[in-house]
Amino acid sequence: MRAGQALVADVVPFSWVDGPGNRFALFLQGCGFDCLACHNPQTIPDDSVHAQKLSVDDVLARLREAVPFVTGITVSGGEATRQWPFVRELFVAIRESSDLRHLSTMVDSNGDASAQVWQDLAPVMDGAMIDLKALDPDVHRYLTGRDNDVVLASIRTLAELDRLAEVRLLLVPGRNDSDDVLARTADWLVGIDPNISVRLNLFATHGVRSPAKGWTAATSADRARYEAVLTNRGLTIVTAS
Ligand code: SF4
Repeated sequence: MRAGQALVADVVPFSWVDGPGNRFALFLQGCGFDCLACHNPQTIPDDSVHAQKLSVDDVLARLREAVPFVTGITVSGGEATRQWPFVRELFVAIRESSDLRHLSTMVDSNGDASAQVWQDLAPVMDGAMIDLKALDPDVHRYLTGRDNDVVLASIRTLAELDRLAEVRLLLVPGRNDSDDVLARTADWLVGIDPNISVRLNLFATHGVRSPAKGWTAATSADRARYEAVLTNRGLTIVTAS
C-alpha cells in the first residue's frame, strides 16, 4: 500500500480535450486562483463534500481499466500542482509499472507553482500545459485574483526544462484581446521559445459566475483575428480548440 491520498474532484477515464490523444484525466480538488471565467468553480475550494480521497493505488486501478483505450494521463484541476507530491508519486508509479509506463504523463496547470515543483516533476512528467490568462499583471489580477509573476516564471522554467508542452491563452473580448496585448503576448512567448505551442481558449459564458456571465463570448471572427496577430509576430504553432 502506498502512502498519501489526493482529494479528487473528478475522474474522466476517456478525454479528447485534456491533452494529446485520448487521455485518462484526473481533476484534483483545490485551486489558488479565483478566476471570474472559471467553468468549474466547485473545484476551487481546497475541500468539498463532493470530492473523493484516492490513493495512488486507487488511481492506478482505475487507470488500468482504461489503459487499452488511452495514450496517456493528464492531471488537471482545480490546480494539479497544489497536490504535487501526490502527482509525482503517481507518475513515478506509472513509470515503474510495466503495463503503464508507455503512457504519457501530463499536467494541466494554471502555472501557480514554484520552480522547485517543476524541477521535481520534470523527471517523471512528459510535459505541462500552462494557462496564461493575461500577460498584463493588472488584467491578470482582475481575471484571476492573483498576480502572474509565478505563472510567467513557470512558463520560463518549463521551457528551460524542456517540459513546456503547450501554453493556453484564455481570450476574453474587451478584457485581454486587443491587437496590442496579443502582439506583446506573442513577443514574450517567442522570446522564450519561437516554436512554443499555443492553444487559444475562447471565452464562453456557460458555467461561469457573475460578472463574467455578462461578458461577450469570443466568436470565430475573433479567433481569426487572434490567430492572425499571433502568427504575424512569429508564433509558429497555433493550435485552435
Ligand atoms: S485556475 Fe482554473 S480551476 Fe482555478 S479558478 Fe482559474 S479557471 Fe478555475
